[in-house]
Amino acid sequence: MDFELKKEHKAIQKEAHRFAEKEVIPRLNEETFKRDLVTLMGEMGFFGCAFPLRYGGTEMGFLGHSVVCEEISRADSGLRSLFNLQGMTVPYTIMEWGSQAAKDKYVKPLVLAQTLGCTCFSEPNAGSDLSSIETIIKDKGDHFLLNGSKTWISNGTVADIAIVYATFDRNLKHKGLCAVAVETDQPGWKTRETPKLGDKSSPIAEIHLDNVVAPKENLLGKWGDGFKVAMTALDRGRISVGSGAVGLAQACLDASVQYANQRVQFGKQIAHHQLVKGTIAEMVSQIEAARLLVRQGAWLNDQDNPFTREIAIAKYFSGEAVVKAAGMAMEIHGGMGYSLEMPVERYYRDAKLYQVGEGTANIMRLLIADDALGIKKANRPRLHVPSDFKDME
Ligand SMILES: Cc1cc2nc3c(=O)[nH]c(=O)nc-3n(C[C@H](O)[C@H](O)[C@H](O)COP(=O)(O)OP(=O)(O)OC[C@H]3O[C@@H](n4cnc5c(N)ncnc54)[C@H](O)[C@@H]3O)c2cc1C
Repeated sequence: MDFELKKEHKAIQKEAHRFAEKEVIPRLNEETFKRDLVTLMGEMGFFGCAFPLRYGGTEMGFLGHSVVCEEISRADSGLRSLFNLQGMTVPYTIMEWGSQAAKDKYVKPLVLAQTLGCTCFSEPNAGSDLSSIETIIKDKGDHFLLNGSKTWISNGTVADIAIVYATFDRNLKHKGLCAVAVETDQPGWKTRETPKLGDKSSPIAEIHLDNVVAPKENLLGKWGDGFKVAMTALDRGRISVGSGAVGLAQACLDASVQYANQRVQFGKQIAHHQLVKGTIAEMVSQIEAARLLVRQGAWLNDQDNPFTREIAIAKYFSGEAVVKAAGMAMEIHGGMGYSLEMPVERYYRDAKLYQVGEGTANIMRLLIADDALGIKKANRPRLHVPSDFKDME
């Protein structure tokens, strides 16, 4: 692995940084979904790194995706989920598993943020355990019919296209799952926004599917392939989530350095008290390690090498690192950390998500330990590389 970013990655990193300073930071107080910012990010190619040119991509790979995602998350971690939905799990899963008709119809508009996507795994009774999904999919001959409920769906209230995971036979557990792309503009698709602690730029919804229809060509993979599709989507989503965690942790460090250099106590800047230095050193070390792990996962994926184990380690470590960094930033800010006038209270609220989404910390630890103990190998060769991706090489 080359530890130096390529010229094009540095260029897009700079562009994302400039965009964040000019467009994102001035609007941080509006704690809502900002469609116009998402449109701009699509137009600037921020979501297209992992995609071929003819699908609206920039062909900069997963490492490019990671670098841009980190930079935007450093400004507003709530926008991080858009990278997952517009630049990774929704369009990429369609690219990897979809029919040509589905790819032609959905991928480019998603990557350019002309349409919005969401991914629907979670349900009231199915979180970490996807094999207990209860939403039912029926094959009605010329179309599919879906009924059930989903919870905690990022972009749920605004998405035009959803990837829905559903079962055709609950007794079959994970072997009964199917993944299908669903257009949300239909009467049986009902959403209700879920209030939440942080991540305010990303609307979360509870969704009810009442005789929702999907065309046959929208099945992803084969009938019964849903679990495999989910596992590949989650692996890639972990690149986005890990990158977002690193970006937010960096924001915690930036704010802490600035405050420690300015706040004076006991006759000197608190930066000169050794225990504060120790905290800063801890943050720097955790962030550097997390960044290297996440970029290693992205780089392995760019080489088409198995990366499930490495990205699980990266996602776990970066999730822990950002929660620690947010706590340490609060500590360095003393009482001001608790103030709504300082950014660190938002970092503290946003950080916790990184231990939950795209596989909880415990689920990552199980995967890592099962691999180490020889109970279940995590890495597997990529199932297939669609010809559209081969064109990129
Ligand atoms: C802000 C936010 C955005 C989200 N966005 C989406 C989205 O877009 N799409 C989507 O489908 N979902 C989304 N989710 C849901 C998220 O993926 C789930 O919350 C997550 O997978 C955990 O599921 P759960 O909440 O049901 O917890 P559970 O699975 O009920 O877990 C509860 C606790 O038990 C632990 N646990 C469970 N099983 C085991 C085990 N075998 N061994 C050890 N510990 C275990 C977990 O680690 C956790 O600590 C989002 C969640 C949040 C908070």
